[in-house]
Amino acid sequence: MLSRLRASMALRPCVSACRWTHTKEKGKPLMLNPRTNKGMAFTLLERQILGLQGLLPPKIETQDIQAMRFQRNLKKMTDPLEKYIYLMGIQERNEKLFYRVLMEDIEDLMPIVYTPTVGLACTQYGHIFRRPKGLFISILDRGHIRTILDNWPENNVAAVVVTDGERILGLGDLGVFGMGIPVGKLCLYTACAGIRPERCLPVVIDVGTDNETLLKDPFYMGLYQKRDRSQLYDDLIDEFMEAVVDKYGQDTLIQFEDFGNHNAFRLMRKYREKYCTFNDDIQGTAAVALAGLLAAQRAIGKPITEHKVLFCGAGEAALGIANLITMSMVEKGLTQTEARKKIWMFDKYGLLVKGRTQEIDSNQEVFAHEGPGNVQSFLEAVNVIQPTAIVGVSGAGRLFTHDVLKKMGTLNKRPIVFALSNPTNKAECTAEEAYTLTDGRCLFASGSPFDPVTLADGRVFTPGQGNNAYIFPGVALAVILSGVRHISDTVFLEAAKTLADQLTDEELAEGRLYPPLSNIREVSLQMAVKVQNSSFLFPLRFGVHTKKRTERGQTGVMGKDLEVGGRTI
Ligand code: NAD
Repeated sequence: MLSRLRASMALRPCVSACRWTHTKEKGKPLMLNPRTNKGMAFTLLERQILGLQGLLPPKIETQDIQAMRFQRNLKKMTDPLEKYIYLMGIQERNEKLFYRVLMEDIEDLMPIVYTPTVGLACTQYGHIFRRPKGLFISILDRGHIRTILDNWPENNVAAVVVTDGERILGLGDLGVFGMGIPVGKLCLYTACAGIRPERCLPVVIDVGTDNETLLKDPFYMGLYQKRDRSQLYDDLIDEFMEAVVDKYGQDTLIQFEDFGNHNAFRLMRKYREKYCTFNDDIQGTAAVALAGLLAAQRAIGKPITEHKVLFCGAGEAALGIANLITMSMVEKGLTQTEARKKIWMFDKYGLLVKGRTQEIDSNQEVFAHEGPGNVQSFLEAVNVIQPTAIVGVSGAGRLFTHDVLKKMGTLNKRPIVFALSNPTNKAECTAEEAYTLTDGRCLFASGSPFDPVTLADGRVFTPGQGNNAYIFPGVALAVILSGVRHISDTVFLEAAKTLADQLTDEELAEGRLYPPLSNIREVSLQMAVKVQNSSFLFPLRFGVHTKKRTERGQTGVMGKDLEVGGRTI
């Protein structure tokens, strides 16, 4: 199946110019449509048949030359936002060329279309705006969301990425300016997993914003009102979910992105049994962080069950990671209670301990242990808990101080230090600080990319980037191919294990905790195969949920597997 899948990915139209695109358009409209435009790469025959003669310079240019032009221009640019605008411009004009350029240089360009530059682009969205991308649904649209979906030009959508803009990366409430996130994530569905761009739909839900600066900004593009936090919000999201499955089918994947803490957990629980959905900030982050821990465990030679993890931050990311670590420890023989006791959390009020005066919500409760009284600084928490791993997901900047890092180096032969907060200036520490202050002994990963670090003695370390892009495209590919209706946490546990397994011993020795991003397509492919082959998706396919598919004539696993190579995903 792997070879069939690989062949199917290699045939994506964005990869190969030999796949036909059907269109009724001709002349200028054909060239103005990024999906059909090929720029000067239209052949003479195409120019004659499609009424393009005279509309293009006479030279027939190969896509290789076009790609070279864009790559050269990109290399001349130093400002990441300028690069973002330039790249997105290609996407607006010539989609095939955009994906070619993106895929050929994914390591350098992923930080532009995705974190960290996409965060900057979101803050500036209304100022750098050129053309709308994706679907905008506001709270004023209640009652006719299904009709709005009919305005979207594609009828065969397989995956939706949706945000309500309340908590964009570590940047807070950006309202509809958050559209950059679903657009960027879906670019990676195509670039990393070969899912056709026309099958991807980015959506922003506008219920207002509590960002005062945006409410005063003449270039803001959403509703000028405070966030609606009433029952109307829930009604709107309910209607949206129903409209999506009504239009595109029950197995449409709906990925939630950058919702505020309260809504993210609530909506995940509410919809996970009803729709084919996951929350990337909670479940995707959990898988990528666990994969890093599993890789670190390989380097240290100490099983996951013997680690003690202290989180800095106790929000969506922390709780998602903590729950998946718990699952992993349980799989290795601990009880859930024993596993949870190995996980501690520190938030803006201090260490989470039973009975503390500041609020502990229902998601956090299970990680609030009988504890050492009032611990207010992270250094004090490290001293008291004596963790083997610290995981920074607070979005609050440099909380892994020099003293914290030195202490981790004293407590552990190989301390695990994950500074996952984004963007780069919010990371809990830099890669250089982590390696220098632990004499190169730490196993380090960050959310945003850091350059390799050379220590005074000449040793070079390549920091791992705990990038969710290692997870969500592969999981999405597995989900779309298998046609499941629900996605369990076990899928993310399996994805984490597959990712950790793909790291070679040589890469581990370089200090890497993740495979190089340049291998991301292979990583996604392996993950999709592993996850799809795992028992977590099959029972759903054969169970009650497969009924409708079977009625449509798709029978059993063999028939389905045989289809995979030729199937349009
Ligand atoms: P969140 O708002 O849900 O949670 C933030 C948590 O940090 C809260 O528990 C808050 O109490 C705590 N906090 C805030 N200030 C603090 C302080 N000064 N000291 C200690 N704790 C403090 O946010 P989230 O979704 O959990 O995301 C947090 C960060 O993690 C963001 O910067 C985000 O970019 C990053 N993140 C990284 C990845 C990744 O690297 N793959 C994935 C998801 C999120």
